[in-house]
Amino acid sequence: MGEEKVKNDALQILGLFQVLPRLVVFDLDYTLWPFYCECRSKREMPSMYPHAKGILFALKEMGVDMAIASRSPTQDIAKSFLDKLGIQSMFVTQEIFSSWTHKTEHFQKIQRRTGVPFNSMLFFDDEDRNIQAVSKMGVISILVNNGVNLGALRQGLTDFTGTTSSPNKSKHK
Ligand SMILES: [Mg+2]
Repeated sequence: MGEEKVKNDALQILGLFQVLPRLVVFDLDYTLWPFYCECRSKREMPSMYPHAKGILFALKEMGVDMAIASRSPTQDIAKSFLDKLGIQSMFVTQEIFSSWTHKTEHFQKIQRRTGVPFNSMLFFDDEDRNIQAVSKMGVISILVNNGVNLGALRQGLTDFTGTTSSPNKSKHK
């Protein structure tokens, strides 16, 4: 599935929901891209999970702010990859630092920098410990198994609104 197709599908999913999060926060390793960037060289050209870029562009088009919360110890490699992928400027803030906390520190910083309350955020991450810790702060947090994708986006928005979307509702009256 091409980037443009994913973006259009993501826009369609976003259109199903009356209320959208004000800020969507992404982990990097195994959420946006399928590797630990600390194990890679800055000289490499990284690639993302197949749906990731289309989803970012759809959120951008809908005016939803985005941020990064990563515990990667190699901020320089992470930033260079974001730059190479052409998505560096899409995030209102990038919190990339190792921490013993399971990203609660990252979210406190994001909250301070953006002024967005925790309950207006949506978070995607591949590690259960982070999901549990950040959920406790009041952020709707979605565990991704194979990177962020359209299914995870739909799940996140559904959980965020607290209602079940009905995308397959018949058009017949
Ligand atoms: Mg990760």
